[in-house]
Parts: sequence; C-alpha cells; structure tokens
Amino acid sequence: MPELPEVEITKRSLSKQILLKKVKNVTIINPKLRYNIRNEKIHSIKDKIIKKIKRRSKYILIFFNNNDIILIHLGMTGRFYFTTKNLKQLDTSFYNKNNIIRKHDHLKISFNKFDLIYNDIRKFGYIKKIKKKNLLTNKQLLCLGSEPLSNKFNFEYFKKKISNRHVAIKNLIMNQSIVSGLGNIYANEVLYLSKIKPTVNGCRLDDKQIKILLRSIKTIIKNAISAGGSTINNYYNSEGKMGSYQENFKVYNKEGKSCKRKKCPGIIKRAVHSGRSIFFCTHCQS
Ligand SMILES: [Zn+2]
Repeated sequence: MPELPEVEITKRSLSKQILLKKVKNVTIINPKLRYNIRNEKIHSIKDKIIKKIKRRSKYILIFFNNNDIILIHLGMTGRFYFTTKNLKQLDTSFYNKNNIIRKHDHLKISFNKFDLIYNDIRKFGYIKKIKKKNLLTNKQLLCLGSEPLSNKFNFEYFKKKISNRHVAIKNLIMNQSIVSGLGNIYANEVLYLSKIKPTVNGCRLDDKQIKILLRSIKTIIKNAISAGGSTINNYYNSEGKMGSYQENFKVYNKEGKSCKRKKCPGIIKRAVHSGRSIFFCTHCQS
C-alpha cells in the first residue's frame, strides 16, 4: 500500500510531465473504484490546464484553471503510467517491464503527446472531483493530522496527541488524524529506529522517547522520499521507476533475522496486533 513517500514520489513524477499542460480528453475505461468515477463530474476538466499538483497525506490533488480539483487516493494498488500515441514506442517503454495489466486501467487523461492512465488492480483507490471552494471543508482532508515533515508536527503537538492515550503507540502513529501518511511499513521501521516496542501504550512514553519517536518519523519519511519510496509488490512511480528504500528495511518482513543494530543480540520477531503485522527486535525494543 503506498504510504506518504510513495505518494510524494508519484506526485513529483506527475508534476514533471503534466504541470501546465492542457487536458485534451478524458475517458473513463472502468468507473468501478472504491467510489465510482462519475462521468458527468470528471468531464469538466476537458480543455482545462493543470495549474498545480499537491500532496496532502496520501492524497494527490490536481488543480485546474477552472477551480476544479481532482482528488486522488491510490488505495492499495493504484498507480499512474504514461503511454505515447506511437504504439512502437509503447512496446519498448517501461510499462511492459513492469507488467501493467491493462484490464485494470480505469481512467485515461489525454494530453497533446501522451495519455496518462490510472491503473488499480484491487480497486481500493478513488478519483473524485471537488470544487476549490469546498477544499477546506472536504470530509477526507478535514480529519487529517499534521504532515510529518511540517513544523506543525512538533514535540508539543505530538505529546498532546499521544501522552494520555491507552492505545498501542504503533496504532497511534498510524492514526491519520494524529500524523498523516504513515502506514504499516514505515510505522514498524520508525519504532525500530526509536527502540520502542510497537505494542507499548502512548501514555507510557516519557518525553525523551516522544522526542526520539518524533525525530525518527521525520528521518524515515525523509530518507524514504530520497530513495524514491519503497517498491513492494505494486509500487512504481508514474515513470515506471522502482523505489529503493525497501533495501533499507531493518524490521519489515525481516522475521527471524538478526537485529542490524551494532552489538544487539536480538532477533526480529513478527506478531499480529490489531489485525496487522508488527515486526520488532526482541532485545532493543523490549
Ligand atoms: Zn535489536
């Protein structure tokens, strides 16, 4: 599932290709996503120019010059790819290598020289059009907590949100209304870096641990973005490139391996907590 770094990389690769470009046509190939793509709504972006592209948490927002905004959530397996109008070129492009299964294409946005296609195998993603004037009251965006790399995500804010909670810290840092953008993979890595056991309750952390955790969240997210995100199963950016941060995983999917920390005799253990896998070192995160 794409988390903040993968969505940020997708946003950047989209920006490189489509910013300030005019939409020539919009074709719904298959409307069935988490919420159906609505033809009568999405068509208003035809002949409009893309003014800016932003990311908020795991959402991508594409702003058009008529004050329409397309809000995109990639769900579990959503991805974009480009095709050129020249079929020969298409055959040698990245999309063959990456095994895009075209029957999972949902939306085609055509520009002058290429098409941008949204593909989603598991159909948990969605694409919605909203009006700019409704942006601040949008249900999906309204409930989001601070961006992890923003100044608003600081010690005072974080402590207030977690220090009185009798809830496992891993669930708290994955709670999108506290800090937005972390999913299961990065939450596990962040807790390892912080030497905090995933199941310990938020109220049990002292100030020093909260500071370390805050710093670890920022570090891991920043490093993952620099590495182009992580490629696990389905994630490629819209230019078809893989991320490489998965090579830096210390605990995620490392069950049974020795802890990478110097002189730590611990073994990485996997358990299930709140219906999700947790990975942690039996020694330095005890
Ligand atoms: Zn360890």
